[in-house]
Amino acid sequence: MARSLTLDWYAISHPSPGVTAILEPLQREHVLSYLIAGSERAMLIDTGTGGQSMRALVALLTDLPVFVLNSHSHWDHVGSNHEFDDIAIHVAEAHELAYRYAPEEIAEFFGEDSLLGPLPPGRSLETIGIGPSAPTTILQGGERFDLGGRSLTAVHTPGHAPGLLSLLDEENGVLFSTDTAYPGPLYAFSDETDIPTYIRSMELLADLAPSLRYIHPSHNADLMPVSLLPRMRDALIDIQQGKAPDHVDETKATYEYEGFGVYAPLPVEQP
Ligand SMILES: [Zn+2]
Ligand SMILES: [Zn+2]
Repeated sequence: MARSLTLDWYAISHPSPGVTAILEPLQREHVLSYLIAGSERAMLIDTGTGGQSMRALVALLTDLPVFVLNSHSHWDHVGSNHEFDDIAIHVAEAHELAYRYAPEEIAEFFGEDSLLGPLPPGRSLETIGIGPSAPTTILQGGERFDLGGRSLTAVHTPGHAPGLLSLLDEENGVLFSTDTAYPGPLYAFSDETDIPTYIRSMELLADLAPSLRYIHPSHNADLMPVSLLPRMRDALIDIQQGKAPDHVDETKATYEYEGFGVYAPLPVEQP
């Protein structure tokens, strides 16, 4: 029987050789997952929001065996995890994959205020499920994944989330900067965010900048200028040292920079 799949939910691009970027333009997070193919197998960095089947999409993109590497456990990166058998994630967030999102959370992620277009045919708030899924490989950072003719190393870059991983293809100068660095407001204000830790991770990535040709982030764009890495590092350091925010609301302080921004905790009032 012919299998049909409308791909309207996804937008596919090829931002560097051998890399397929999978954007979800209709959900406001503008999250990106990435499929990196070697000669033997393919790595899928994250499984998106679950708005449409990621597994069905990946089956159209490659015949290779595919394993998932979750950059971290935030909902918009693990949405289709339950469709996959082989899932690697950092030890600090592996337990989070057992979580099944409640209907009211799904309603928030895919409600009118969160969508920029319709859900795919056959999908509704009732039929979208996120979690639970089961990790099969627990990572510490430093692991090297050989895909056949191409290898990627997991780099632990906590701060935005405790188990956040970036992926580095050293030989080709390609960095998947995941949620550590992307062109948009960097989320550094949630309970699990730690700015000094985030600074150390950004220092690590900024030190790599001279060797990089391509950076593929996990939100907003499939390519990010390498020059942003040192500027993001410097911005986080300035904020840590007490720079005045550009805006504040009840929950966070906003700092604006050219090409990105930072959402940070509200500055502590001086007595
Ligand atoms: Zn995140
Ligand atoms: Zn994210």
